[in-house]
Amino acid sequence: MSSKKIYTGLIEQYRNQLPVSKDTQIISLGEGNTPLIQLHNIPSTLNKQVEIYVKYEGLNPTGSFKDRGMTMAVTKAVEDGAKAIICASTGNTSASAAAYAARAGITAFVLIPDGKIAQGKLAQAMMEGAIVLQIKGNFDDGMRLVKEVADEAPVTIVNSINPFRLQGQKTAAFEIIEQLGRAPDFHCLPVGNAGNITAHWLGYSEYACADSSLFAEVCTNGFADFSGKPIIDTRPKMLGYQASGAAPFIRGDMVDKPETVATAIRIGHPQSWDYAWIVNSESEGWFDECSDEEILATQKMLAEKEGIFCEPASAASLAGALRDIKSEKIPENSCIVCTLTGHGLKDPDTAIKQSTAPVVKVEASLVQVKSAILDNM
Ligand SMILES: *Cc1c(COP(=O)(O)O)cnc(C)c1O
Repeated sequence: MSSKKIYTGLIEQYRNQLPVSKDTQIISLGEGNTPLIQLHNIPSTLNKQVEIYVKYEGLNPTGSFKDRGMTMAVTKAVEDGAKAIICASTGNTSASAAAYAARAGITAFVLIPDGKIAQGKLAQAMMEGAIVLQIKGNFDDGMRLVKEVADEAPVTIVNSINPFRLQGQKTAAFEIIEQLGRAPDFHCLPVGNAGNITAHWLGYSEYACADSSLFAEVCTNGFADFSGKPIIDTRPKMLGYQASGAAPFIRGDMVDKPETVATAIRIGHPQSWDYAWIVNSESEGWFDECSDEEILATQKMLAEKEGIFCEPASAASLAGALRDIKSEKIPENSCIVCTLTGHGLKDPDTAIKQSTAPVVKVEASLVQVKSAILDNM
């Protein structure tokens, strides 16, 4: 018997809950199994009794939760004989698609918006050998083109309209339940296309063996098989936060020229629009918006006070949660999980721009270094 103890990714971990067979060749980079970290320093400033946890999805192999969906989407594409995949992306989907395509030995085509992509994400897609098509348009234009071209060329779409993406992403909810030993009362997420909030609700509903009208729409295997595992008896209220300049769920209609510093959620025409409204009503949750200033201030506070560095879009979940805790829309004694969707290193430019801490320049001498330290204690 082998003594190896290598975690081999979320499909292996949740095989019985995912649409794979025993013969399926799994394309994995060890995604999933991310930490759930309880915040200490931020809650203590609130004067409210709450437990806040962050699910740090920035620690996936390519630095965002997109890897959970991509391992499933690329595994199924390869199983179906695909030689190429394609996606439109604000950055993280392209980084993930490129990595899993490289792993599978197939080609990734990625359509990214001109100029509005964080440097880290572009670097990833280029290093991982994707063919990058930079379009003169935004994400929504890219998404439309991807759908059109997939009708005319032999490429598999790996955006979240690919149902296997949501199947992979639902495992984040499974992990949270297993880490907490229960479901949280509230689950907060940043919302762009709304695939992730949909996937989480699928996951919570399957684990609770509670019905959802999503099952008929997106679930390819009905109730997941959780025989032998603890079954939860509650599901969280799902709270979706958008950036004010890209907030179709708050406006109640599509937004044609979305703008926000949180480029990962700079989306005006969400692909999972109908699903997200189902999540909203079934979970009795709500949508709200955060300004760019709020998003950046929360990103910085999380890094400064807790040592956790997420990208701007991710901070929308915590920004919204903190506001709703303060206003008691989220009541005291609640257990709250915020998804931190992507790593802060994805977007170094935005981070450095808003960093106020001065870089102290000194000579390479003991005297100067010592006085710089004593001056700054
Ligand atoms: C993709 C992404 C989102 C938005 O997720 P949706 O499923 O499109 O709602 C949020 N944050 C980051 C970092 C992302 O990469």
